[in-house]
Amino acid sequence: LEALIDAKTKVIFFESLTNPSIDVADIEAITAIANRHGILTVVDNTVATPILCRPFEHGADITVHSASKYTTGQGLAIGGILVEREGLVSKLRANPRYEHFNKPDASYHGLVYVDTNLPPYTLRARLSLARDLGAVLSPFNSWLFIQGMETLFLRMQEHSKNALALAEFLEAHPKVKKVNYPGLKSNANYKNAQKYFKDALCSGLLSFEVASLEEATKIVNATKLYSLVVNIGDSKSIITHPASTTHQQLNEQELIACGVPSGLIRISCGLESAADLIADMKQALEA
Ligand SMILES: *Cc1c(COP(=O)(O)O)cnc(C)c1O
Repeated sequence: LEALIDAKTKVIFFESLTNPSIDVADIEAITAIANRHGILTVVDNTVATPILCRPFEHGADITVHSASKYTTGQGLAIGGILVEREGLVSKLRANPRYEHFNKPDASYHGLVYVDTNLPPYTLRARLSLARDLGAVLSPFNSWLFIQGMETLFLRMQEHSKNALALAEFLEAHPKVKKVNYPGLKSNANYKNAQKYFKDALCSGLLSFEVASLEEATKIVNATKLYSLVVNIGDSKSIITHPASTTHQQLNEQELIACGVPSGLIRISCGLESAADLIADMKQALEA
């Protein structure tokens, strides 16, 4: 990562828990590199949510979330959340990478964002992006997100418990070649999950690999309880076969290069009973 940085680098952007490969970022290692070069870090914390992961406590500058996922919890509205850490202004001030924050903005009557006593990153995102592009939530969607946030804490516990139970079932099943879930001791991300996620809960996203594209298609179609759609973070469990949907334009080699083998199935574990989710998966695997 450090070797790729040059004078034009503006930001290091990464996901705390990645979708669809389900890896856990070493946040402190990445933010240390960024800080050595005075570069902003932006963490997409959509899948972990602030309930499980708090990137500011590990040196990150800005977090973003797709509110369309766990925040609403029912896929009811499209929206996003952007939060900057306290004191970010000192990283932007007199930093040649960020003249659009520390020099007068001609399109805003010469406003210098770092001199306003307001959170400069958020202020600029609102004044220029919201003004120029019109990305403003409707009051009704805002209300839906507030309803969702009231139960986010409880839901994240249940999503995580269900996903771990399903991952353990899948790992023991002979038709499953590999399970990707950072809550499993066998997973390469287990150590990072223990370090960065509250109570080592790992959210509701997991993926697993079966022998072939045909096998995966058969399993996806044989499930009854899982919705076959491409959303994540819903109260309903969701099953996705990336090779035939979100990544269908790629050939076999390209699929492997981007970590999506053709037999890979992704699950977003909902809030149904774990016993039902396991029973339905079992009948689909053995159908
Ligand atoms: C879905 C998703 C997004 C995009 O969010 P939208 O609300 O669909 O625009 C960004 N990051 C992650 C990790 C996501 O899962």
